[in-house]
Amino acid sequence: MKNETGSLVRPDALPDSASRPVVTPLSPSVVYASDTPDMLDRQYEGDLKGYTYAREGHPNADVVAKRLDRMEQAPHSGVVTSSGMAAVSAVLLGLTKAGDHVIGGNQLYGRSLRMMTEDLPRLGISTTLVDPGNVEAMRAALRPETRMILIEVVSNPTLQVADVAGLEVLARENNVLLVVDNTFTTPRAFQPFAHGADIVIHSITKLLAGHSDVMLGYVAARDQRLNDLLRVFTVTAGMNPSPFDCWLAERGMLSFDLRFERAQATAAILADHLATLKGVRRVLYPGRCDHPDHARAGTLLKGQFCNMVSFELEGDRSAANAFARAAEGLNFAPTLGDVGTTLSHPASSSHRALTPDQRKALGMSEGFFRISVGLEDPDTLCAVIARAVAAAMDV
Ligand code: PLP
Repeated sequence: MKNETGSLVRPDALPDSASRPVVTPLSPSVVYASDTPDMLDRQYEGDLKGYTYAREGHPNADVVAKRLDRMEQAPHSGVVTSSGMAAVSAVLLGLTKAGDHVIGGNQLYGRSLRMMTEDLPRLGISTTLVDPGNVEAMRAALRPETRMILIEVVSNPTLQVADVAGLEVLARENNVLLVVDNTFTTPRAFQPFAHGADIVIHSITKLLAGHSDVMLGYVAARDQRLNDLLRVFTVTAGMNPSPFDCWLAERGMLSFDLRFERAQATAAILADHLATLKGVRRVLYPGRCDHPDHARAGTLLKGQFCNMVSFELEGDRSAANAFARAAEGLNFAPTLGDVGTTLSHPASSSHRALTPDQRKALGMSEGFFRISVGLEDPDTLCAVIARAVAAAMDV
């Protein structure tokens, strides 16, 4: 059967145009055609830049990678992955072997913790979790077979600040890789490569993309060989990102600087306001003088203390329920970095697997909330939160 025009199925080319689009074109193509086998050879050998199969790379992923490379001052172009956890997995699974030992910060993101405690040991890789603010404890955990130390600079949800300067020296002296998940801090507040990190990880899903409509990650290594290994592993393991997600992420990242500035300025105002409210037992914000790691945060974070504020309400679960119910217009949702402010309650979400005593030891009671501050007007946001705190005190 002939088709309508009698032509071949795929059109020859895009229409001619002397002008070009200002928006990056979306390239959903899974495969890319080359002119000849010789040309394909040259592409694979790196003499010619060209795409072949989208799992191995595509233009929309490269656009996002280049933008993050610039923001992170990455020595080599990093890899964009299908999620932040894919980037974490690429490092933990792609650069280790059975018999290795990995040290992780004891307040890593929940799924990273799970990979450390469940998956790596299953594969014969032993792990130890240590407070990243305590370099001596990290030193004590080192073994001859320790391969890497994985940390987050500002921990979730208690917002403790890692002793990155001390860990950099420790890692270098002991020939261990220092891996930094920079999701919370973002390159706007902290650039891990400038502080001696060997590998940088991001969940682009969060502040970088910023609109809760994309899941993506990024990983880049200082050493060319490790960077190449990570790229090959992500291709083999199928951690490739969708072109549409990359396209959306690029659009979100165009306004990242402005969003971050605004959100962290509002977070500082909100933290101070929360501290004045009756019914609030304590406020955790690294920009406040009463934060235990304020001095370290001041040195490391270039005066950008991030958009996350945690606080503890007086009262139990019923007070927490009343607070969430009364915080009208703010989503109670387990994420961070959205344009809108979101509330999270570790006892019922990220830390629900812990016993009440374990949560207590980490300072997370039933009244503990983490706020990811968005782009609302600061006065409006403070008023909504104040009303919600008052409602929680009425129960
Ligand atoms: N790292 C941190 C610090 C995170 O907070 C998260 C998610 O919340 C991740 C990694 C995982 O990212 P994703 O949800 O994109 O897989």
